[in-house]
Amino acid sequence: MAEDEPSGALLKPLVFRVDETTPAVVQSVLLERGWNKFDKQEQNAEDWNLYWRTSSFRMTEHNSVKPWQQLNHHPGTTKLTRKDCLAKHLKHMRRMYGTSLYQFIPLTFVMPNDYTKFVAEYFQERQMLGTKHSYWICKPAELSRGRGILIFSDFKDFIFDDMYIVQKYISNPLLIGRYKCDLRIYVCVTGFKPLTIYVYQEGLVRFATEKFDLSNLQNNYAHLTNSSINKSGASYEKIKEVIGHGCKWTLSRFFSYLRSWDVDDLLLWKKIHRMVILTILAIAPSVPFAANCFELFGFDILIDDNLKPWLLEVNYSPALTLDCSTDVLVKRKLVHDIIDLIYLNGLRNEGREASNATHGNSNIDAAKSDRGGLDAPDCLPYDSLSFTSRMYNEDDSVVEKAVSVRPEAAPASQLEGEMSGQDFHLSTREMPQSKPKLRSRHTPHKTLMPYASLFQSHSCKTKTSPCVLSDRGKAPDPQAGNFVLVFPFNEATLGASRNGLNVKRIIQELQKLMNKQHS
Ligand code: ADP
Repeated sequence: MAEDEPSGALLKPLVFRVDETTPAVVQSVLLERGWNKFDKQEQNAEDWNLYWRTSSFRMTEHNSVKPWQQLNHHPGTTKLTRKDCLAKHLKHMRRMYGTSLYQFIPLTFVMPNDYTKFVAEYFQERQMLGTKHSYWICKPAELSRGRGILIFSDFKDFIFDDMYIVQKYISNPLLIGRYKCDLRIYVCVTGFKPLTIYVYQEGLVRFATEKFDLSNLQNNYAHLTNSSINKSGASYEKIKEVIGHGCKWTLSRFFSYLRSWDVDDLLLWKKIHRMVILTILAIAPSVPFAANCFELFGFDILIDDNLKPWLLEVNYSPALTLDCSTDVLVKRKLVHDIIDLIYLNGLRNEGREASNATHGNSNIDAAKSDRGGLDAPDCLPYDSLSFTSRMYNEDDSVVEKAVSVRPEAAPASQLEGEMSGQDFHLSTREMPQSKPKLRSRHTPHKTLMPYASLFQSHSCKTKTSPCVLSDRGKAPDPQAGNFVLVFPFNEATLGASRNGLNVKRIIQELQKLMNKQHS
């Protein structure tokens, strides 16, 4: 404990700030963890630690963030979450780094600019296919929840407006019980400079509630997997073939199902990790620096019947409403794990800054510098900071306690981190009560994590002087709850993410990894 800190301050609970858009589950999880809700009548304007809301923050709010505060959005991330911007960024990456890496987004045209290109492509394909149909989907660039979507095969049915995209419709989706589905993968970027990406090992699989049928493209219950659409359908409550009641599975149930068909789920998971990294790399160099913020993205991924994952879109503020028991199982723990992840990182930043402060750095210098935190304030009022000071002096278990307060952990599936090959974090999933019918091709629950242990050996070598507190080049934590670090994924990418992002070098490493997997 820092000697000059008043002991009363250490007992102050952490404080969260919300607005009317903050998901209820965020509030309830934070209260459950012993946090207090910010009350502007009672408290000073700056007396809060985490501000979580659905919409983005203004740059002035980012600039005035205090060292003990965290915001749940990073500036500049909507470049990924608008469908037209995503398409443009990925197209640019394809031009720069080749199509082989960036072939995970269906062919996309941004209207109205690409109208003539689309028409040319449409008729060329029509000619090639002869009597066979080609299928397209037209989506508003900025809307969500399946609103305003049109699927068509015949050009005369094509209607569009400004700010629409037209995309190749994946007409051979992987079907389960003849129902279409897509995956909601949660990704947390805890910093863009240096780039640090975590993928959540649990997630949601969202089903259409009527059987897939290309002869009726107007039936949204068969073609769209948005739960906002399907929960109002007549079949939602019915027990459906294989998928059962409702329209959601956990990701672990889905992977378990795939394994029961002897599918190499680990390979699929690797491809998804790679897709996440490549997508975020498309915007990472251009996002402005901002301290003390993070971004939770929802990646929507469709798997086709060749087990190829396709990126449909990236969601900003992915829905955290609890509509069914699967939501409760996944999203409550997700929020707990985000807090663990952020707080672990927050502690690291604060510690680092506190350490720098003792070397005379000013707040302004720190804010300008390329780091994930600001300088320590003169007075550190909250628990988080008391943990930081304890980190200097006491054993590591104090820090662990500080970040793992979870009075009522959701009984989500046991998911273990695992490495594949030399240098990539992966995980296997087991359903709690179900046994795969056939053996999977990989060894489940492998606990050896060569690169992860490399990270750990960096950070936890000694109890008395954890290098998290002083070393700018330190590797991020490999795991927090069900979040697993996917970037940086080896020594080379760790280096390439420091002192400016060397995208070319990172792409080379990803390419090497792919070649290794193919060979
Ligand atoms: P929204 O933001 O409105 O949810 P999405 O791009 O996620 O828009 O599309 C909604 C749904 O439409 C997806 O969940 C998926 O079921 C379906 N869909 C979207 N794009 C495609 C595509 N290219 N091929 C097949 N299905 C698609």
